[in-house]
Amino acid sequence: MPSFHELGLSEDIVRAVSEQGYTSPTPIQQQAIPAVIQGGDLLAGAQTGTGKTAGFTLPVLQRLLSQPNGPSDKTSRRPIRVLVLTPTRELAAQVQESVALYSKYLPLNSGVIFGGVGINPQIKLLKQGVDVLVATPGRLLDHHQQGTIDLRHIEILILDEADRMLDMGFIHDIKKVLAILPPKRQNLLFSATFSDDIKALADRLLNSPAMIEVARRNSTVEVIAQKIHPVDRDKKHPLLAHLIKSQQWSQVLVFTRTKHGANRLVEQLGKEGITAMAIHGNKSQSARTKALSEFKDGSLSVLVATDIAARGIDIDQLPHVVNYDLPNVPEDYVHRIGRTGRAGASGEAVSLVCVDEFKLLADIEKFIKRQIPQEIIDGFIPDPNAKAQPIQLRSFEGRNHPGNGQRKARPVGSNKPQAAKAPQPRNENAARPQQPKPRNGNLLGGKSAGPRRSGSRGNG
Ligand code: AMP
Repeated sequence: MPSFHELGLSEDIVRAVSEQGYTSPTPIQQQAIPAVIQGGDLLAGAQTGTGKTAGFTLPVLQRLLSQPNGPSDKTSRRPIRVLVLTPTRELAAQVQESVALYSKYLPLNSGVIFGGVGINPQIKLLKQGVDVLVATPGRLLDHHQQGTIDLRHIEILILDEADRMLDMGFIHDIKKVLAILPPKRQNLLFSATFSDDIKALADRLLNSPAMIEVARRNSTVEVIAQKIHPVDRDKKHPLLAHLIKSQQWSQVLVFTRTKHGANRLVEQLGKEGITAMAIHGNKSQSARTKALSEFKDGSLSVLVATDIAARGIDIDQLPHVVNYDLPNVPEDYVHRIGRTGRAGASGEAVSLVCVDEFKLLADIEKFIKRQIPQEIIDGFIPDPNAKAQPIQLRSFEGRNHPGNGQRKARPVGSNKPQAAKAPQPRNENAARPQQPKPRNGNLLGGKSAGPRRSGSRGNG
């Protein structure tokens, strides 16, 4: 397997990547990085969880470096050279976070703009200038209409999760954006599925693209055994301790929603005689690295992590993942449980779910299009009269999530959650559906507009 360096990335990029704990490129990265560095267009079939973000960000940064333009001083105004369009503001924020991480040692800067928040700070950002701009289409067009953005110097356009953008009704906005951009540019289109609409968009946008496709790194459906343990809110930590001890789990990654929750759980497990360590944004890099390496070498059996901190943890065949709290966003559930069952090995993902989280559970089940089996553990039968409380969202790490208002869980009565209405999006296009439509699932391979295939179908 080629290293990041061998794929053509410069030392300062590789350094930032290594700091994330990535040891080798994922299949999509192995194929996309050289293809993008060569400068051609790209059509990529890759879902979340495959490492697609680094797959386009790293080579794009490399290209910017090899063709310097504008002042290198980070503070002076500079033209926007790369535009990444994403369907949601959450994804926009995540992508920009990744760009910022990977460009840490480069004389390049990045910014993000999306709707639902004040426009003035964004105007200020755009005045200062950024090399890489991540944006949702609606807000980008708002800026264009107001004359607060200059898109005349875009060299590279990336459409991330293009299928979802179309599902959300962004096609007209995308067409408008394309009409504004300079015609001579490199175009990268990433999509999980390839409907006729996506193929039509690819035909219109891409010029003899390289075409790559990778299967999901993990399938939530096939490889990973998922289970829900309904439990009372205040019985979660004794239940977790019970599971770890009775089932003799030797390596378990536990997700909590908040940094505070992670710290508290480490303490509680300690009182039960279980040594655990937490990694989250308030921990120093050295504390994180230490916890991670002890967890990897087996000397630490329980690692507690928040979603953001867990990005970049790549451990082969992690046998157990526990959702101590359910994530707020269904996609994060898939990310989390994707940490187990790697490379065809069987894995188990267990979620401890209390009455407050039934709405979140319903959203997740809707998203993964299946019900997760439930099992009540002896001695931890949930109180049928328990009342749901709003979930504490104050100390969420990082991102703005949609529907961050007070979620009301369904009053308990049975252990089965009811299918619930999708949370109200608060993103720039509140009227547009936020939940992805069921996908037709046809990946590349159908008749497509004759792009050239490069590479093979990987499934690392
Ligand atoms: P994405 O598909 O871009 O959403 O990435 C999924 C996850 O994989 C993110 O948490 C990344 O931090 C992580 N990741 C990306 N590239 C690698 C790599 N080469 N090795 C390990 N983890 C990676």
